Amino acid sequence: MTNLESVIERIEKARLAYDNKAIIKLVAASKYVNADSIKELYEEGQRAFGENKIQDMKEKESALSELPIEWHFIGRIQTNKINMMLDAKPFLIHSIDSYETAAEINKRANVKNMQINALLQINSAKEDTKAGVLPELAIDEYCKITQNLPNINLKGVMTIGAHSEEKKDIQESFEVCKKIFNELKKYDAKICSMGMSSDFELAIASGSNMLRVGSILFSK
Ligand SMILES: *Cc1c(COP(=O)(O)O)cnc(C)c1O
Repeated sequence: MTNLESVIERIEKARLAYDNKAIIKLVAASKYVNADSIKELYEEGQRAFGENKIQDMKEKESALSELPIEWHFIGRIQTNKINMMLDAKPFLIHSIDSYETAAEINKRANVKNMQINALLQINSAKEDTKAGVLPELAIDEYCKITQNLPNINLKGVMTIGAHSEEKKDIQESFEVCKKIFNELKKYDAKICSMGMSSDFELAIASGSNMLRVGSILFSK
C-alpha cells in the first residue's frame, strides 16, 4: 500500500466513525519535497497541494504548470510577498491571520482585478508562537473582512492544533475552531481546515472537513 492509500484509508475510517455523510478533503502539504515527488503523488490521484512558502509555491507551480493541480497556501503571509502569492493564483489561502493582512491582500487583489478565496486562521489555543486571530475576536474579524474587503471571499476557518502532548489539549483547540465555524455558517462558511499528520483523526472527530497532511505522505 502506498502512503497515500494508507492515509486515505485512515481518513475514511475516521470519517465513517464521525459522520458517514461528511465530505473531507485532503490537501497534501508538500513543503518537504520537490516537484518530482509532487508529480508522483499527482499520478496516484492527489490533486490539492499546500505550500507554506510563497517562493516555493511559485517555483513548484511553474515546474508543474502542465498539471491541473490545485495550489493551497498554508504558511505565514509576509506583506512584501503578497503580489507574488496572488500571481501564483492559489486556489485557497488558508492563513489570513488578521484584518490587516486581509486588507493588504484586498488592496493588491483589487489592483489586479482578481478575487481570492481564503480562510481566517484562528489561534485556537492562544499560543504566542502561532499566528491567527484569537477565538473571542474571530467572528467580528470575519464579518469585518466580509463586509469591507470585496476582493476576498472568505470560505471558512483554519487552525493548527495545540502544541501539546496531551490529546485533550489538541482536541480542545479543534473544538474551539469548530464552534467558531458553526457560528460562521450563517455567513456562508463552508471550510474548516484542521488536522495534520499527527492529529488528523482527532480533527475529523472534531468536525474538520479539510486536512493538511504532509510528513506521513512523503516519508519513505
Ligand atoms: C507543514 C504543515 C502541515 C503539515 O504538517 P505535517 O505534520 O507534516 O503533516 C499542515 N499545516 C501547516 C500550516 C503546515 O505548515
